Amino acid sequence: MSRNSSYDVAIVGASIAGCTAATILARAGAKVALVERRSNANAFKRICTHFIQPSASPTLDRLGLTQTLEKLGARPSGMNIWTRYGWMSYPCDWADGPRDRRPGWNIRRELLDPLLRHLATDTGGVELMLGQRAVEVLRDGTVGRGAARMRGVRLRALDGRERELHATIVVGADGRCSSIARLAGTPEKRKAHNRFGYFAYYRDTPLVTGSSNQIWLQDPDVAYAFPTDSELTLLVCMPHKDRLSEFRAHPEQAMRRTFQQLADAPQLEPDKRVSKILGKIDTPIVFRQGASPGLALVGDAAFEADPVWGVGCGWALQSGEWLADALVPALGGSERDFDAAAEAYARKHRRRLRSHEFFTAQFAKGKPFTLGERLVYRAAARDREVASRVAAVGGRWIAPHEILGPRSLARMLRVNLSPARQPIGLFSSEAERSPALSQLAS
Ligand SMILES: Cc1cc2nc3c(=O)[nH]c(=O)nc-3n(C[C@H](O)[C@H](O)[C@H](O)COP(=O)(O)OP(=O)(O)OC[C@H]3O[C@@H](n4cnc5c(N)ncnc54)[C@H](O)[C@@H]3O)c2cc1C
Repeated sequence: MSRNSSYDVAIVGASIAGCTAATILARAGAKVALVERRSNANAFKRICTHFIQPSASPTLDRLGLTQTLEKLGARPSGMNIWTRYGWMSYPCDWADGPRDRRPGWNIRRELLDPLLRHLATDTGGVELMLGQRAVEVLRDGTVGRGAARMRGVRLRALDGRERELHATIVVGADGRCSSIARLAGTPEKRKAHNRFGYFAYYRDTPLVTGSSNQIWLQDPDVAYAFPTDSELTLLVCMPHKDRLSEFRAHPEQAMRRTFQQLADAPQLEPDKRVSKILGKIDTPIVFRQGASPGLALVGDAAFEADPVWGVGCGWALQSGEWLADALVPALGGSERDFDAAAEAYARKHRRRLRSHEFFTAQFAKGKPFTLGERLVYRAAARDREVASRVAAVGGRWIAPHEILGPRSLARMLRVNLSPARQPIGLFSSEAERSPALSQLAS
């Protein structure tokens, strides 16, 4: 067994969260070990529908990736969510508008993950260690009331050889079911999820919304259509688990039946499918303590969010950035400085995401819409101002409870009680009318 030189930060997991944190830390002068169990620098996550929420667009800008994403064919998206009350639509004129008018992005992980990994490794100060699995957390010394502080991780290579990696702080960026969190005994809150997902990519399947997503909340089933790079459309069904046997028997037939019943939806034509049909049955919602002495968690390792809302990639980018920004002032400082910085990060993570966790976990039960949801969705389908507030929550700029203030509630009540208010419909502006729609209409 060999013993490695020491790093400021050892990040386990070279995917969205890990590469973001590594890049920002190294740009500030940190010495970063970036550990990845897979051996291929172009590896990518397959079970992901990869919509990046608008709230992460400033992080993409800061990483310098927005133009590259556009060149790779990433599609900018506004919000179009259907409920039985009509469409809640909000455009993505991001040019000079307020922050909630910036777009989200659709780009396949096949393109995104290698891009982020190469960005990190091209940053001086990052050492990428491929084909290395973290199998143990190393601790020594004591802090506070006797908890052992983390000092690094033990790595196992593909050939079985092991070595120790030492760092002032270890970052778990190792995704769902984080082994770093498990090995460290990190406290977590776990909630059940009563939906499952199946999805596949289709060619020549335009949406009436052009480059913008469509999402159908059928109460309780969910479906969505995401136009993505390479002129592909991702069609997704996330129904209640009551329908699991129907989907397991014939996934594509079940998906096709679902799309046939949706308002303004593209038709799912099996001969246009260009990928396997992928499925994910269990996605519990897990929120973990974001920091402990010598350790911080980012991305899914910190918060396994509900895939239904397409939030995990954006929050992986943002939490990687939040942690890096917290740690930068501690570089060159003591372990205590690092731990205080990690604690500050964990508080920010909780403050920004806990309310989203609460509301999405309620929805994940798969119960009929609550009175509050009905009030919001019905008003948003009839009023642009309410729709813009829903877009701000949906784009993860603000927390759900922030649209439940007295003024917002009063407006929603007024809209709901006014017989003159009719559903606005799918298109918020002419600019949103896509060439695809014009073709379909002609
Ligand atoms: C069905 C489904 C659909 C989804 N759709 C969306 C969506 O539309 N939009 C969205 O924003 N999010 C979506 N998500 C969530 C999104 O996929 C995750 O939130 C995102 O990948 C989290 O990024 P991450 O960097 O934290 O972790 P991951 O991308 O999971 O990366 C973890 C990395 O750690 C490595 N690793 C793991 N263990 C070790 C170890 N012991 N040693 C070394 N390396 C290790 C892995 O190989 C991997 O590279 C979806 C998830 C699911 C399940």
